[in-house]
This record gives sequence, structure tokens and C-alpha cells, in this order.
Amino acid sequence: MDFSITPEQKEFRRSVSEFAKRELGGNVREREKNGEFFWEGWHKCADFGIQGMPMPKEFGGLGMDTTTCLLAMQTLGKECRDSGFLFSLNSHMWTCEIPILEFGSDEQKEKCLSPMIEGKLVGGHAMTEPDAGSDAFSLRTTATKTDNGYVLNGAKVFISNAPIADLLLIFATTKRELGWAGVTGFIVEKDNPGLQVSKPLDKIGLKTSPTGELGLVDCEVPASAMLGRVGQGSAIFNAEMEWERSCLFACHLGAMQRQLEECVEYVKDRKQFGQSIGSFQAVSHKIADMRVRIELGELILHKVAWLKSRGKRAPLESAIAKLVVSESYMESSIDALHLRGGYGFMSEYEADRDLLDACGGKIYSGTSEIQRNIIARFLGL
Ligand SMILES: Cc1cc2nc3c(=O)[nH]c(=O)nc-3n(C[C@H](O)[C@H](O)[C@H](O)COP(=O)(O)OP(=O)(O)OC[C@H]3O[C@@H](n4cnc5c(N)ncnc54)[C@H](O)[C@@H]3O)c2cc1C
Repeated sequence: MDFSITPEQKEFRRSVSEFAKRELGGNVREREKNGEFFWEGWHKCADFGIQGMPMPKEFGGLGMDTTTCLLAMQTLGKECRDSGFLFSLNSHMWTCEIPILEFGSDEQKEKCLSPMIEGKLVGGHAMTEPDAGSDAFSLRTTATKTDNGYVLNGAKVFISNAPIADLLLIFATTKRELGWAGVTGFIVEKDNPGLQVSKPLDKIGLKTSPTGELGLVDCEVPASAMLGRVGQGSAIFNAEMEWERSCLFACHLGAMQRQLEECVEYVKDRKQFGQSIGSFQAVSHKIADMRVRIELGELILHKVAWLKSRGKRAPLESAIAKLVVSESYMESSIDALHLRGGYGFMSEYEADRDLLDACGGKIYSGTSEIQRNIIARFLGL
């Protein structure tokens, strides 16, 4: 395995970093207070090419390999403090664009991909239901065959981007007795009269990423709205989770790098007992642990990218990556707050954002327990 990056990848990372510093700043706290989505940033990202990074050039994308995408997402995580915005961007890219690219018909790709890359359409995906979270494939939303297509009935919860999405990849079952084998994906457009979208839910973190509930009431879709084949929904979901568990969590790794740089600076400057607090071993060891977590997260994420760039699947490695990075982010966020003492507890230092985001990271894309279950399954348990 060779994880060295090419001069082109370095140059792209540098341009993403400059772009993010220049264009993705602004008053994040204000947007968080108002639960406001960063539309200006969204369109600037599309102009730069972010939404099109993993997409083929024929649809207007940049046609980049997984490693380059991962480096770019890590850089965005470091330089853009609006983590809710980045979360929405990730949902759009890995759980809607990518499944359409990998499983969509020519017609679906033609219709959806270019506008999604250009930022004209926002996407999301809807699997979770009130009674089907970790046990996702036990979903109850039904897809019943009609003469012209399917009719969907059911409810979805915690759906990222739902209040702003133009199209949603919705999973339903064509036959509940089949379990995972009956799960099927459908692309549903926002103006479908059978689709009800709630107002944004009030969350404790990721406040600039609109999350909503969906109601599907006799929601009629043509047969051409089905993504892939009947019963292929679980394969689609597993494939998109590999992307999300690596590229979304690369943003968290970037945030951990920012945390580390800020903490090193702080402990060098802050003096107690007549010396900088960084000279106390108990403090410097916390900083060393933060550095170690980044190294480990980077190694496993790059392994996933290395496999995916070679067209290989990475279900085990992406589960390990998600588990390692999300738990590390939580530990580093607690350390970053603690190292600042009372100042860390003041909103001005914004340590709460990383901490609350880290809490979410242990839940979405499958909880830590579910990642451990996946890993154990690979060991025959
Ligand atoms: C910010 C955010 C954004 C989200 N975005 C989306 C989205 O865009 N689309 C979407 O479909 N969903 C989304 N989700 C939903 C998310 O995927 C689920 O919340 C998650 O899978 C957990 O399901 P649940 O909330 O029903 O918890 P539950 O499954 O009820 O789990 C509750 C607790 O029980 C534990 N548990 C459950 N089963 C087991 C087991 N077998 N072994 C050990 N422990 C277990 C869990 O680990 C957890 O600690 C989002 C969630 C959040 C927080």
C-alpha cells in the first residue's frame, strides 16, 4: 500500500484550502442561532466543483478518485467551521449523487446528476423510520405495485436535507416478509403531492443542516423512479454507507486537525504557576493523544480510499474508519474543551460545536455499536 499523495493531489488540496478560507467563513454562530442553511456557500462550492468532485466529467464533474475527494473533504473540515453546512454537503454527495451514479438508469443520471453537480438540485436519502433505526432493513414503508409504477406509504425520521431537498432517495419494501431482500430505493421529487415534508427539526448540534421528517401518503411514483432493481435497496444503502463512512468522517478528521493546532497554540500561550501550561506533562500528553488519534484516523481513512480508488469494496474498513474517527473526535473534543479550562466552557471559544457534532457522529451512518457489530460479523460472530 502506498499512501503518498501526488503533486496534483497536493495542489488540489491547497486550492480547496484557499477556497474554504476565502469563501466559507462568515458568521457561523449567527447562522446557527437562526438555523439557517448557508446557501451562498452551497453555490460557491458548486462553482468551485465540490459537489462534482467524484462525478464523471461527462456530467460536468471533476472525475476525481476517492483519495483526492477524501483529502478535499478533510481540508473543508479543517477550514470551514460551519459543520452543519458540510454535513448537508456530504449527505447530498455520498447518499444521493453517488447512488444515482452507481445504480441509476441512463435517464436518471441524465436528469439528476448535472443539476446536482451545479448546485441547482439538493439531494438527501431517507432510510430511518420511527421504528426502524439501527435495524434499518426492518423498515415499514411500503412500495405497492400499480399499473403505472408504485405507490409509497409510510414515514421517515431524522432525514438530513429533507426541508431543502429537491429530490430524495427513499427506501421502501416491496414485500416485508423478505426483510433486507425486499428493500427497494425510489427517487422522489419534492413536488410529489404524496410527499409531506416537516419543518426543520430542532437539533442540539449541526444546527445549520436542516433535518426533517417525511410522510408518504399514497405517494405515486412511476416505475422509472425506482433506483436499480426491486430488492436492490440494501445493496445501494450499503454502498453509499461506505462512501459516507469515509468521506464524511474525513471532515471530522479535518476538524480534529484544527482543534489540535488551536490547542497547541493555546497551551503554549496560557501561563499558570509561572510557566506555560503546555510544559506540564499532564497537558502535553493530552495534546500528544490528540495527534495520535489524527494519525490513526488518517491511516484507516486512506486505506478505505486506497481500496475504493482501485474499484474494491471496503465494508469492513469503512466500518472501522467510522468507528475510529467518530470516537476519536469525541475524545479530542472533550480534551480541547478541558485544556482551555473555564474559557473552554464559554460559548465565545465555540468548543461546544465540535463536542455536539462529535455526539452526532457516533449516531448517524450507523451507531458505534452497529459498527462494532459489523466488525464482529466479519470475524464470524
Ligand atoms: C444528525 C443526524 C442526521 C441523520 N440523517 C439521516 C439521514 O439523512 N437519513 C436517514 O435515513 N437517517 C438519518 N439519521 C438517522 C440515523 O441513521 C439513526 O438515528 C441511527 O441509525 C440510529 O437509529 P435510531 O435513532 O433509531 O436509534 P436506535 O436504533 O433505537 O438505537 C438506540 C441505541 O440502541 C443501540 N442499539 C440498537 N441496536 C443495537 C444492537 N443490535 N446492538 C447494540 N446496540 C444497539 C444503538 O447503538 C443506540 O445507542 C440521522 C441521525 C442524526 C442524529
